[in-house]
Amino acid sequence: MKLILLGPPGAGKGTQAKMLTERFAIPQVSTGEILRAAVKDGTPMGQKAKELMDAGGLVPDEVVVGIVRDRLQETDCNKGFILDGFPRTVAQADALQVSLQNMSKKLDRVISLKVDAQALIERLTGRRTCKDCGRGYHVKFDPSRQAGVCDACGGTLIQRNDDQEETIRKRLQVYADQTTPLISYYQEAGVLLELDGMQPIPQVQKEMLSLLQAG
Ligand code: ADP
Ligand code: AMP
Repeated sequence: MKLILLGPPGAGKGTQAKMLTERFAIPQVSTGEILRAAVKDGTPMGQKAKELMDAGGLVPDEVVVGIVRDRLQETDCNKGFILDGFPRTVAQADALQVSLQNMSKKLDRVISLKVDAQALIERLTGRRTCKDCGRGYHVKFDPSRQAGVCDACGGTLIQRNDDQEETIRKRLQVYADQTTPLISYYQEAGVLLELDGMQPIPQVQKEMLSLLQAG
């Protein structure tokens, strides 16, 4: 299955992608996670990306397009993949199409998660992530058993630099300006499915699975 999860920051793409990864045994390809790993490792790409990410802006198209092109060629993507956070611009979507064509592959589905702006702010300000294994939590909607400690690995839960309210507002504006055109882009391509992302996490997952199984 070759799938894109589309939606604003905080819509639940990462949360759902991790569940789908287990269910279908295909990798989650999150450009945000790849970029954060590069920042952490202090690579030249990470050093350049950090400032843009902390300010809530987008990393240049050519950088993320290159990341995804290389990642999709790895063998674990042969059976399929879940793209999370990519594409974010029409130029990225066009480049993805070219990459897939070059590999004789085709997208199966794009699932667009819809969530109100107020809920997005609440989700993002309360988001916590394990600094060791990357598992995501929410202080209210999906809390860890012990505050600040990862259930899965015992690692420390941290808050992302860009999950501050002012930066969140900037990211939501960037999404509205640069990414929302992708909804009609994929609608016109006949691959878009829409899902109400305002529901609790298990319900979103249930509806996502039935959409995917309905083909
Ligand atoms: P995205 O990857 O789209 O930016 P995440 O999956 O990281 O979003 O989710 C953002 C935050 O909202 C996380 O803290 C997550 O636990 C929480 N969350 C995800 N889905 C839901 C949901 N359906 N209802 C309430 N909170 C959610
Ligand atoms: P995310 O983890 O998807 O919320 O992404 C975090 C940040 O990484 C974004 O705010 C951007 O700065 C950067 N980023 C992630 N994916 C992309 C992309 N496809 N295009 C440009 N920048 C991206």
